[in-house]
Amino acid sequence: MKQRDRYQECVYPSPESRAALWDQTNRLLDGVLDGLPNRSPSPSLDMSAIRERLRTYDFREARDPAVTLSDVVDILASGIVHTQHPRYFGLFNPSPTFPGIVADAIASTINPQLAVWSHAPAAVEMERHVVRWLCRSVGWHDEGIGGHFTSGGAEANYTATLSALTRVEEGFSDRGARAFGGQPRIYASAESHLAWYKIAHQTGIGRAAVRLIPTDGSGRMDVGELDAAVSEDSDLGRVPVMVAATAGTTNAGMIDPLAEIRGVALRRRLWLHVDAAWGGAVRLSPTSRRLLAGIEEADSVTIDAHKWLAAPMGAGIILFRNAEILGRTFRVEASYMPEGVAELDPYTHSAQWSRRFVGLRLFLSLAILGEEGYAWMIDRGVGLAAELARLLKESDWSVVNDPSLAVVCFVDNRSGQEPSEIVARVVEEGRAWISVARFEGQAVVRACMTSHRSTEADIRELIQALNRARDDAVTSGTGSPAE
Ligand SMILES: *Cc1c(COP(=O)(O)O)cnc(C)c1O
Repeated sequence: MKQRDRYQECVYPSPESRAALWDQTNRLLDGVLDGLPNRSPSPSLDMSAIRERLRTYDFREARDPAVTLSDVVDILASGIVHTQHPRYFGLFNPSPTFPGIVADAIASTINPQLAVWSHAPAAVEMERHVVRWLCRSVGWHDEGIGGHFTSGGAEANYTATLSALTRVEEGFSDRGARAFGGQPRIYASAESHLAWYKIAHQTGIGRAAVRLIPTDGSGRMDVGELDAAVSEDSDLGRVPVMVAATAGTTNAGMIDPLAEIRGVALRRRLWLHVDAAWGGAVRLSPTSRRLLAGIEEADSVTIDAHKWLAAPMGAGIILFRNAEILGRTFRVEASYMPEGVAELDPYTHSAQWSRRFVGLRLFLSLAILGEEGYAWMIDRGVGLAAELARLLKESDWSVVNDPSLAVVCFVDNRSGQEPSEIVARVVEEGRAWISVARFEGQAVVRACMTSHRSTEADIRELIQALNRARDDAVTSGTGSPAE
């Protein structure tokens, strides 16, 4: 083959080679996923082994695609925590839906550019369609509803914060934080997701803008404390801007009292954001949706597609009851950008410029599973969590949170072992993956039941692994037996 043809074949192979490579890729991926139940969810390659293998890639010469694909999948398979493992009871990282996975292949292959409406009207409209549907599932039916896909919950919360600052202080857009007479303030609970600090830094109001409100002993924002904090800040010349209620805390799935927080927000004229990155999915379950009653009173809502909605990683969503503010927050004109439909161009309404077709992951998943399929997936997770909580109590563990959002936090009553030691033993044994967390200042073991791959048999295996970890501790004398 001539050199030029060879390169051509590497950049975009002939139809026969492409078919063979797709076929090989499918087989490799099925091999990884089908083999998961029999291997540890944790990486088996250590840092030096990974780097050793990467050293063979000096990128000087073209490599055989089939050999390379298989090597890359093999490095990955042995070098990550497998969030698709049926006994990965981890940090909401999903086992993606198959339609979501296919959507990513379609988005990469067709590769629409969603910066401007005119470049990809079909794709922009598909995202808009899902976003408006989600707004209605939150409980909004106003004309002005809208929002967009983000890289994740952190970007969604950032978008809400920047918009709230722009709404509250007209001069913020041009003059920045100086436009506020005093230190702007945003409020979230002590159990909230601490990306708020990075967000405050990013928006230029500074990390000191974040005021964490104490919780009530069960992981929910103490509304009396919120009211007192806002009042004190106002008296001291600071400028209260936004309260972010968490609907599904990352540690324990607890839900701040949305209606009461709404009362404070109204009285004190604060933007009300609800961070439902993780919990928002329950709006799709007729059985559990009432848990988030009051969310419809928010000005903006974050829901991650890559948590309980099971889209592949890198998919969040920000929703606005009145999306008009986005155009003021992200306005910009660039001579080289195609003229568009001003109200619809994503690059003038969001933090990103070039934009990937992330929304297809959710569009296709919703289309193929339907609302009922999603409800089934969510109810199943809630059911498994309830079952785990029941089995834990039977085996003398204490569940310390309310597991209705499918995350269970617990401690050991019997051996007095530190949660971190129990978790380390379980993870090291390799039958399951769980983590530690802090809940109301207490270290706890945390297990999250959101994977559609997990079954009751997997829950029983987890209980057995936990009991073994505790018994090991007792026999090896590392724990101090409870009185
Ligand atoms: C996960 C999470 C976030 C951060 O979202 P990313 O998708 O990781 O950026 C924010 N808030 C809550 C409540 C979360 O659970």
